Amino acid sequence: MRSRSLVGALLPLAFAPLPARPQSVVTSAPISDVRYDVTFDSVTAQSRQIMVRMSFRVSGADPVVLSLPAWTPGAYELSYFARNVLNFTATAGDRTLRWDKLDFDTWRIRPEGAPSITVSFAYVAEALDNAMAWSRPDFALFNGTNVFLYAEGRPMDQPARVTIRTTPGWQVATGLARGAQPGEFTAPNFHDLVDMPVFVGRLEVDSAQIAGKWYRLATYPVGALSGPSRAAFWGHMRGFMPPLIDVTGEVPWEAYTTLMIFDPEYPGGSALEHQNSHVGIYNPGIAQAGPLLPSITAHEVFHAWNVKRLRPADLWPYAYDRAQPTTLLWVSEGITDYYADLGLVRGGVTMPAQFYQTTREKIDNVAGAPPTALEDASLSTWIHPADGSGYLYYPKGSLAGLLLDIQIRDASDNRSSLDAVLRDLYARFYRAGKGFTVDDWWQAVSRAAGGKSFDEFHRRFIDGRDPFPYATVLPLAGLSFQADTSRTPRLGTTTNIDSTGVRVSAVLPGSSAAEAGVRIGDYLIRVGEVTISRDVDFGPAFRARYANQPEGSPLPLTVRRDGRTLSLPARLRLAENVSYTIAEDPSASPKAVRIRDGILKGTTAR
Ligand SMILES: [Zn+2]
Repeated sequence: MRSRSLVGALLPLAFAPLPARPQSVVTSAPISDVRYDVTFDSVTAQSRQIMVRMSFRVSGADPVVLSLPAWTPGAYELSYFARNVLNFTATAGDRTLRWDKLDFDTWRIRPEGAPSITVSFAYVAEALDNAMAWSRPDFALFNGTNVFLYAEGRPMDQPARVTIRTTPGWQVATGLARGAQPGEFTAPNFHDLVDMPVFVGRLEVDSAQIAGKWYRLATYPVGALSGPSRAAFWGHMRGFMPPLIDVTGEVPWEAYTTLMIFDPEYPGGSALEHQNSHVGIYNPGIAQAGPLLPSITAHEVFHAWNVKRLRPADLWPYAYDRAQPTTLLWVSEGITDYYADLGLVRGGVTMPAQFYQTTREKIDNVAGAPPTALEDASLSTWIHPADGSGYLYYPKGSLAGLLLDIQIRDASDNRSSLDAVLRDLYARFYRAGKGFTVDDWWQAVSRAAGGKSFDEFHRRFIDGRDPFPYATVLPLAGLSFQADTSRTPRLGTTTNIDSTGVRVSAVLPGSSAAEAGVRIGDYLIRVGEVTISRDVDFGPAFRARYANQPEGSPLPLTVRRDGRTLSLPARLRLAENVSYTIAEDPSASPKAVRIRDGILKGTTAR
């Protein structure tokens, strides 16, 4: 997953976590010959519903117990997709069968002697979220986790067949394999079935070969990524794909599908990874400019190796009815983000200066957040901590990747690298059909560094909250690092954008905002003389406007609270602000230059 709002970069939209549900302890009667049938067409689109049917054979007289997943792997939060189910029915021929619910998302059906059963329901597709289902009059996105039921307590390894029915002329784009019949798709097991989201409707689709494999691009609406911007996107894919492949040396798919929605209501961009595809949702502005679209895309593509295949043991296999916390999301997400940056610079999509700039921004992000251990941020993301630390494993995990890469290269005189760690673990764990543990990770890091111990690094910087040792490690890669302190205006809010405005999601104690009585849930309208809009990050404008005002001068705030507009008297407060510089050091040693070049080009000495 990767999210980027235009304001409040660390905090995607907040969802209130729900209490954990009781675990089901029942086992379903065995079912076989499972077929799913999904209909989304111009008629069902009018009610924003997807029609779902599941038919199967049942053995024995015990109840059939079916569950819908509570979350989509990659989006680490419990969403309980069963809440979107309407008109659940179970039938055997003309007979309507009795059913009841066992928990939030589990149905128990009494077969009463029926040899085969059909279950049907409508699914409400109204959530513009890459883990969920969303529709328009001519389009739907759905994830298999939203609509495909599984039998409780039964193996997940049964092959599945899905028929997708739609309006003539509309298209289906998905990573699912095509079946023998028109509209039919297949998956070898339930895990793969729910890991291949579907676009259906009026799409813009094209394909190209890169390094001998097929890549398909499906976008909605038609025209959102067309002409020069589409050509530029393909150019970026051609650039970063080969260096990403080089890390493990294996392309684990025959075809890879990029699915993208562009919607003006969506703030920023966010995408969710799968084994042979990803879904991205973007504000249309992102298609036109900047490195954000290729950066998010490279991140999601690299996930196809790191997390979809090379995966923490805590997430292996996926369990769909409960949270699966792990202390290793900083590896799965942060190091993936490091490789997105490396893919871009190694593939010539960005220049080294942009790589340093991105690294500096990540250091800024970490410096602006409460000191949080990477293992703790990884663990806590499921409950969306109010202090904003729940997503810190992206920038901080990425920086940990850079620091480890430099130290491994330094210990081996650039004969080894972080690439070697991933290659090693990929072979030892993914290819052996299992996940890796914290110990497995550090042993692989140590092996890559010729036996050097990383126990202290782990204890202080990954399990602990010590500030990262940029100033001692970056010079080993021929990079100078400088921190300059100044005092700058700070409002003291964390915000996110929703459909109605810029919403306060956290208020820093003792700040201007706290003194003025700003509350979580307020929408900012004006800060002093700066008007707040959803389209522009107000922070730089605010700091520029008040840079030379004395501390304590009046700073009237206007907010919207419960539909009312309020004026709150505030005073300007300054906060210590540290700005960082990373630059190539012209007097770096030959060894440090080798390491720097190795990182930027993906090379090691032989
Ligand atoms: Zn991610």
